[in-house]
This record gives sequence, C-alpha cells and structure tokens, in this order.
Amino acid sequence: MNKFVATGSSIALETPVIGRITRSPLRDENSRTEHVLVATNTPIHHDDMRGYGAILTADSTESLPPGKEPFPPIVHSLQKLENFCEGDVVVVRPGRGKTGPSTVRAIYCINSRFSNLLLTEQCNSRCLMCSQPPKVEDDSYLVDEALKVIKLINKDAEVLGMTGGEPTLLKDRFFSLIQACRDNLPKTYLHVLTNGRFFVYKDFARKLAEIGHPDLMLGIPIYSDIADEHDYVVQAKGAFEQTLKGIYNLGSYGVNVEVRVVIHALTYERLPQLARFIFQNLPFVRHIALMGLEITGYTKKNLKELWIDPYDYQAQLVEAVEFLADRGMNVSVYNHQLCVIPKSIWSYARQSISDWKNIYLDECQPCAVLKKCGGLFKSAENVHSSHIRAFREGPALATAQASL
Ligand code: SF4
Repeated sequence: MNKFVATGSSIALETPVIGRITRSPLRDENSRTEHVLVATNTPIHHDDMRGYGAILTADSTESLPPGKEPFPPIVHSLQKLENFCEGDVVVVRPGRGKTGPSTVRAIYCINSRFSNLLLTEQCNSRCLMCSQPPKVEDDSYLVDEALKVIKLINKDAEVLGMTGGEPTLLKDRFFSLIQACRDNLPKTYLHVLTNGRFFVYKDFARKLAEIGHPDLMLGIPIYSDIADEHDYVVQAKGAFEQTLKGIYNLGSYGVNVEVRVVIHALTYERLPQLARFIFQNLPFVRHIALMGLEITGYTKKNLKELWIDPYDYQAQLVEAVEFLADRGMNVSVYNHQLCVIPKSIWSYARQSISDWKNIYLDECQPCAVLKKCGGLFKSAENVHSSHIRAFREGPALATAQASL
C-alpha cells in the first residue's frame, strides 16, 4: 500500500479538496483556505477549525466539537497520518457511495524527488509493459486538479514529474500545464514522460518550445533501432517513425529530450545496436536512461514474453553503456540492482525507483552497498533476478564502491 495514501471516514466532504498540508494551526484565517490542517491536538476548538480546505485527524468523531457552525470537511479515523509532511500537497476525496472510505493522497511530497502529476490515463499506444494501463473514461478532472496542485507546490521545489497516459493528447491543456509550471515554479526542473508521437507535428513542437519553460526535459522511449520491433513493443503501427520525427522536431526547437529504453526479453539483444543508432542519429539528446522492467500493469499479463533475468543481459548492457559513455553521451542505468550488473558500470547506476515503491529484500540487509544500491520495485518482491546476493566488505568491493 502506498504510504502516501490514507483512508478514513468523512463529514461534510462532498467534492474533492486540494490543499497544502499544515501541521500547526494558522492564525490568519484568510490563509487557511488553501491549507489542509492535520489536527494532532484534539479535541479541536471551534476557532481552530474555521476556514481550512479540510481537516484531517487520526481520532474518531468523539474528539470533534459538536457545534452548529459550518465547519470545513473533516476526514477522521485516518491511519498513517504521520506520513503527510508540512508542505505536501494532497487531494482529499470523498468515498464512493455512502459508505466508501474517503481518501487522502499526497500528490506532491516535499521530501521526495519522485512527485509526479498524473495528467491523463488515456493513451494512443498500448506498450506491452505499460505500468499505467490506459483507460478510456473521461478523466479531464485530472488536469484541473494538476493546475491547482502546481499553484500550491513549494516555490523551491527542485523537481516535478508529469506522467500519463499520454500527456500530449491533452493538446492545448498540456501547454497550459507547462505554462503553469513556468509561471508558478520557475526554479523547478520539470520532467515529462511522453511517447513523443504528437511532436511529429512541427507546430506542436514549436508551441511547446515557445512557452519557454526554463528547465524542461521530455523523457521519450525508443525500444529498438528497427521500426517494426519498436512498433510491436508499443503496439502501434508507425509509432517509431512518428517518435523519431517528433524528437527531431523537438531538437530543432531546442527542447531537451531524454531517450528512455526499457530492457526486457524483446529489447535486450539489440541494445548495442540501439546505442549506436542513438549516437549516430540523435546525438543531441541530453540523456539516455537504460531501464529495468517494472512488474506491474500490462507487464504482469505479458510477463512470459517480457521476462529475462537482468543478470543474463549484462554483456549487452555493458556494451551499450560503454559505447555511449565513450562517445561523451550522458547515459544512466535505472532500476537495476548493483549485484546483477558488472562493477565496471556501477558508476552509471542511479537510485531511480520512486521512494514509495522502493524495497530491499531480506537478502539485502547485510549487504555492504545497500545504501548506494537502488534496490527493487515493490512489485518485484516475487519476480526478480535469481542473482540477488549481498556483498561483503573487501578490497575489491572498496574499489568498486569508490565509483559510486
Ligand atoms: S544484495 Fe540487495 S542491496 Fe545488495 S546489491 Fe543486491 S539488491 Fe542491492
């Protein structure tokens, strides 16, 4: 269960409330409207309740005042309330029907490098390993919520992610979101995951560039140097050509692009050829992330076709990393445990798994490099490399650790 989601029972919560967490009562009642108060000192006095977007408490209803005043919505009997920090931005949602539990979800976590705004669950591709399988229902409310969240995020936030579905399907609303980040969070690095296909339209790429976001990166996947192989992985005919043209259009307007490659049984063999293709055809991309598979979403149902023990593609991974790095390209290895990749490429391995879904196995506990290892996805608890082994201290390990 995501530690940034809590459920409880609500009073007077009719519609979703979005607000910034405060853990201490605010004196100025005017500033309360954009805040959600975590009430730790109950019973709460009437005056301390007025004006907030919502009030959250771990206590039951007995600790709440019985007054007749119109209080803000209250969610009570919440567990895990201690996980919500001052400055987090949360959405408080009423339960379904009369009896469903209300939820509090942190959309932006002030102490995490991994806050992502989900902009839509709709998509024009059907990647075999999609971690967020597309839905067709109208979810346009997600954009309205994201716009509110962006205004409430701490102005010093270092990084913010945007994800989908496919955010570019939102067209002009996608641009509004980028503009909102430019205006409200000009110091925040913005990373957007997109399949890049819509940027085949030059005007679309130009409009994005014209927004002039000061620190924007688009993460765009390419799964093979062969068009048909890429199209098969994303289950969309013509996607390779669109994506490639899209990256060229973005490049011509100076928009930063990161190429993302998810490595699995269908993509590992040609990883060295793909590295050559990227170097020869896309030398302007800012970063290349070679990523391990997350066992969730569509991956679970396609596991037979996709699974390969990462230990078994070490040769291809090393060749691709060294080829790109030797030519001055900025390459990283994401989502891989240090014990399943050779020490020679440890310096490219990043702790890339979002903190709320990052685990270490029992075998990891005595490991000498645990603090520097990215660990595993929670979803990999039962499906992971059979070569997970703790490292013991020693001279060889000390040398390898120095590169991390
Ligand atoms: S044993 Fe665990 S902590 Fe150590 S390298 Fe492997 S996955 Fe990482």
